[in-house]
Amino acid sequence: MAQTRRFDAIVVGGGPAGSAMGWSLAQRGIKAAVVEKAVFPREKVCGDFVEPAGLRIIETMGCTGALDLGKRLPITRNRVYYEARLPYHGDIPYYDGAHGMPPHGYIIPRDQLDTVLLQNAEDAGATVFRGTAAKGLEREGESNVLTARAGKQELRLEAPVIVGADGVQSMVAKAKDLRRTDRRHIGASQRVYLDNLDIEDGEATIWFDEDQIPGYGWMFPMTGGRANMGIGLLTETCDRFGMSVQQCFRDAVERLRYRHPGCRNARIASKPLGGAVHMYGGLTCNHFDGGILVGDAGSFVDPMTGEGITQGMESSILGARSVAAALEAGRFDSEQFASFERDFRAYFDPAMRYLVLLAQLLRNRHFHESVFIATRKGFEKAQVERSFGEISGTSFGGLNVQPLAMTGQLLWSLADHFLRGGAAALRDAMSGRGFTANGAIEDLLAWQRGWRASTADDLGWHMSWLGDIAHAIGKLGPSFLMDENPRLRGPFAFVEARE
Ligand SMILES: Cc1cc2nc3c(=O)[nH]c(=O)nc-3n(C[C@H](O)[C@H](O)[C@H](O)COP(=O)(O)OP(=O)(O)OC[C@H]3O[C@@H](n4cnc5c(N)ncnc54)[C@H](O)[C@@H]3O)c2cc1C
Repeated sequence: MAQTRRFDAIVVGGGPAGSAMGWSLAQRGIKAAVVEKAVFPREKVCGDFVEPAGLRIIETMGCTGALDLGKRLPITRNRVYYEARLPYHGDIPYYDGAHGMPPHGYIIPRDQLDTVLLQNAEDAGATVFRGTAAKGLEREGESNVLTARAGKQELRLEAPVIVGADGVQSMVAKAKDLRRTDRRHIGASQRVYLDNLDIEDGEATIWFDEDQIPGYGWMFPMTGGRANMGIGLLTETCDRFGMSVQQCFRDAVERLRYRHPGCRNARIASKPLGGAVHMYGGLTCNHFDGGILVGDAGSFVDPMTGEGITQGMESSILGARSVAAALEAGRFDSEQFASFERDFRAYFDPAMRYLVLLAQLLRNRHFHESVFIATRKGFEKAQVERSFGEISGTSFGGLNVQPLAMTGQLLWSLADHFLRGGAAALRDAMSGRGFTANGAIEDLLAWQRGWRASTADDLGWHMSWLGDIAHAIGKLGPSFLMDENPRLRGPFAFVEARE
């Protein structure tokens, strides 16, 4: 029988969420173990893009030097393609350097990022079990008993608190009956490294193709003519419309070659690999008797972009507070850990609920024409109107999501478009030229075509989709009531204010 090792808390998984949790617990003087099945460095399928809010956390945790951030290419600009058109090309308008965040992101390959973060947790005092796969989880009285395997060796770890930070396939979530399989909130993606590119100025590229909606593609450049490139789609849409992520990915590589002048001679430099993301909209409950779920295991991914590195670390920094409180109170029941839910809801809901609504609206592929045109016009508007890019632009990868201001801008743009379009169409019709004008009438007709196709295809699905939208609208309260998005000041300031 394996010898038992006792801790205050066991963290399963040593990705960004697990490492941030290990580090945070160790900082609080808590005896923590991090159990990671891989031996780092290891490859993790990801776009590798770390946004400014994530870089701020990495700096606070003291990892900037070890990651050699100064030598990396700061990402400050973006190209946005809509098929062959380029409706936006310029600065990322909401990377403004405020609130202690750098005015750029970095591409940090996960073999490097995760190795440094896990080492940092160990240096802070967490006990790290590398190459150790968690196999079984039982609750014995007030204790969690984790059995794990490192090669041929069996391990038995025991602690009053267990944290599931073990990604989308979380064994902890499974053991607690909290695994998420709702395909409305799961993204599927494929990515590769490209070489031989002519891009050095820190300019990311994203693109939208009508045949790949709802979904998008990215190309994130690094130094030396290399880039991380991939696409992400909604799994529900792939199922319903028989779309293949692999085929969409192959098309995307070819399209990038002819679209982007710096990618003409792109060479595939790694095996294309697929991965999944579990998005915030699919989150139900993340606490149970004996612990919590963080990061991808807890579905903290941005439902519009699929980013989850920052959100994973944020959820852990918030979660460490609940773990500490439970240990201090000597209480480990689910009700005690409900403090985690209160914290993360207060922190994430104001921005995420709004993004969940937008993601719900985009889910219906029958409206691909309308979605394609409307979002393209949004990027065109951001190109000529800075404040639109700064505010509404944050719906795609920005931190300072301001739902009230965004809704105002979007409604005003719509009203303006249809008023101008309506007046012009009336003028055209009266002069006998038919409908031309600014496309407002065509946009209405495209929307009508989408509606007809959706109801004719599957009325039951259509009605449930409308129900999901109504539900998402009903949850918007915190989005519209907030004074300031709590994520702006970051998880450390949030936790400090609550303690
Ligand atoms: C194709 C793709 C592109 C993406 N691009 C981006 C991007 O550009 N930017 C961004 O912010 N996010 C991106 N994401 C999302 C991001 O990868 C995740 O949100 C992030 O990795 C979450 O971190 P985590 O620590 O929760 O989980 P993970 O990074 O998945 O870490 C979980 C860890 O747990 C370990 N583990 C699992 N099971 C066990 C077990 N039984 N025992 C012990 N250890 C275990 C795993 O080995 C792993 O190391 C992308 C995702 C995909 C699939």
